[in-house]
Amino acid sequence: MTGVGPVTPPPAGYRRGVLRPALASLLTSAVAVSGAVLVGTHAPAEVDGEPASARTVRAADAESVLAISIDGMSVAAVRRLGRAQLPNLHRFMRAGASTTNARTEHEMTVTLPNHTGMVTGRRIDAATGGHGVTWNDERLVPATVQAAAGHDVASVFTVVDQAGGSTALFAAKTKFTLWERSWPDAIDQVVIDQDNGALVDRLVADLDEDRDFRFLHLSLPDNAGHAHGWMSRPYLRAVRQADALVGRVVGAVGSDPVRKAGTTIILTSDHGGHGPRHDDARLFDNYRIVFMARGAAVDRGVDLYEINPTHRDPGTRRTGYGARRQPVRNGMVANLALDLLDLPAVPGSELDADMDLRLTAP
Ligand SMILES: [Zn+2]
Repeated sequence: MTGVGPVTPPPAGYRRGVLRPALASLLTSAVAVSGAVLVGTHAPAEVDGEPASARTVRAADAESVLAISIDGMSVAAVRRLGRAQLPNLHRFMRAGASTTNARTEHEMTVTLPNHTGMVTGRRIDAATGGHGVTWNDERLVPATVQAAAGHDVASVFTVVDQAGGSTALFAAKTKFTLWERSWPDAIDQVVIDQDNGALVDRLVADLDEDRDFRFLHLSLPDNAGHAHGWMSRPYLRAVRQADALVGRVVGAVGSDPVRKAGTTIILTSDHGGHGPRHDDARLFDNYRIVFMARGAAVDRGVDLYEINPTHRDPGTRRTGYGARRQPVRNGMVANLALDLLDLPAVPGSELDADMDLRLTAP
């Protein structure tokens, strides 16, 4: 199957720079003045004669956020293949803030429940405030996340949309049409293509559009894990292929200096895997995942737990939601992205709802 293409065309009269129109030109001047990227470090005291207070780019700001999820990528594979065989992922970690000991949602280690947590900032269990998406197939009933939860459920897409921004979804599995049904007006472009390379082509082409938030889902490791087993040779090859695709995306973002200066890329996974499966939420290999960020407003080469005393490295534990100091979770993607964009947290969300997960040293 070569994919079902763009399900939603960009709206006519496409909005450009509505969210924070001044920032792009500000970035341009900042780069020009210093010859270096200033976002996320210190703004100049004075630019073009204007006082710093009116020009300062807040350290917590990004112009655009790209969230990448690599379906089924296990930490064991990231460690075993190392820098030599996963040059792009390991370069990503050296260039940014990261941990190889993040956590999935507590209840389940499967794709659709975990990804829906990433964009809603909610746990899974609807009875305790979760999004309610407990299935992981193509079913059309419940038709939406809202139907699963029994009430309205906001997402990173709806918050960006309500602020006048633009969003896009690029996914390699057709089950992600759930999100399009759930937030039809808030996701401006949906591309679903099971061919991961073609999907990345579409995302790279889309980088010319002025978007505030993009979500990219890559499926290669999960597909190979189900067919051949996690840590099998075909699985490890798929992780290397995913690494190469990440390299293409990072390179494309960085090919334009203004875009590079204003973009933060977040990268995580929905779950790992063990043997031929990944659905036992009690297994360390399933619930341990990577979480990393690089780009605008991110320090280089820092460990997320070292710079976040509000969060606790869980060791080998499967920490529940009741722990005072939470581990870094994949469900923190939504509110971290909104924090970077200087927007409010997702209404009704729980994971990093205080927006205290930081990407720079205190
Ligand atoms: Zn799977």
